[in-house]
Amino acid sequence: MNAPDTTNLLDLGPDGLKAFFTELGEAAFRGTQVMKWVYQQGVTDFAAMSNLGKALRQRLGEVATIRLPEVVFDQSASDGTRKWLLRLADGNCIETVYIPEDNRATLCVSSQVGCILNCAFCSTARQGFNRNLSCGEIIGQVWLAARLLGQFEPQAPRRISNIVLMGMGEPLLNLDNVLPALELMMDDNAFGLSKRRVTLSTAGVVPALDQLRQRSPVSLAVSLHATDDALRDRLVPLNRKYPLRELLAACRRYTDDKPRARITFEYVMLDGVNDSPAHARQLIRLLQGIPSKINLIPFNPFPGSEFRSSPAERVLAFQNLLIKAGFTTLTRKTRGDDIDAACGQLAGRVQDRTSRRLRLQRQAAAGL
Ligand code: SAH
Repeated sequence: MNAPDTTNLLDLGPDGLKAFFTELGEAAFRGTQVMKWVYQQGVTDFAAMSNLGKALRQRLGEVATIRLPEVVFDQSASDGTRKWLLRLADGNCIETVYIPEDNRATLCVSSQVGCILNCAFCSTARQGFNRNLSCGEIIGQVWLAARLLGQFEPQAPRRISNIVLMGMGEPLLNLDNVLPALELMMDDNAFGLSKRRVTLSTAGVVPALDQLRQRSPVSLAVSLHATDDALRDRLVPLNRKYPLRELLAACRRYTDDKPRARITFEYVMLDGVNDSPAHARQLIRLLQGIPSKINLIPFNPFPGSEFRSSPAERVLAFQNLLIKAGFTTLTRKTRGDDIDAACGQLAGRVQDRTSRRLRLQRQAAAGL
């Protein structure tokens, strides 16, 4: 067992790691060396980090640790999608999903235990909210997936090429821990993915979106799902706090400083709710002037959900209108639904879940 006051190095981003070593009286580049060992070689045993002096390795054994979540379930779907249920040190569980495709392999990671936003069509909402994930619990999902996929082996069969923060939780409500984890995903001495291949998805926490714009080059996806405030208030209650006009203004600001960036707008297709040609035309009007891509998501049902997925021909008609108006529009393929790994189906296991009353109180406090 490690002493409780040891630092979990996974909780430190690139700068934090360098600062950790300077505080130990070592050169900052030791932080980079350790980062390479951990995230490129998959080595978590300090004793094996052969380019660190023996005394330093011993010291690290005393003051630091590398603590990962524990894999409880590892499930594979018939289409190759894989889902892991991970148990955290406090007993809470989260889910991480790996989605291989022909030309890429995407890892979908969680940012919180449960979620406070209570979107009407999302099963994570039913779990209640417990807490933010630490940086180590976020990047730990990537590390574990890389290990389980054999990515640290010299002749790795396949690498994670893209990461999306689209698992459980609202990443912009946990920005302080999400930012260093994003840095590790993109740092050349860690996972080294390009900023175009790391995407944060948000329901639209406007002030945090402006923070993100200033602090990270990451790609952005926005869960829009509705084209007027009345409907969006119902589907994504966060809209009551940050209505469409404010959200879209923040999206414009986001792309203003990033000349080649495009925002992905996610739009879940709900039968008879938001899927008419009039909705498509409204969407075209709303997104005018914002460099965007549109991702239509077939609704993934879960027990007790009140919605149905739009019929395929309605999705196609909707998509065609958007394409005709000049928007790059894809309909997301549902992946891994036979193991409940599809969008909105991630449930994990929230321990000591916040009671409904407490949750409502917290939501009221957050202005939701
Ligand atoms: N809180 C963030 C991250 C969650 S991402 C956000 O809202 O963007 C998960 C994506 O899947 C979001 O676009 C979400 O709206 C969508 N989603 C949630 N439940 C779904 C369901 N049942 N079917 C399809 N998509 C769903």
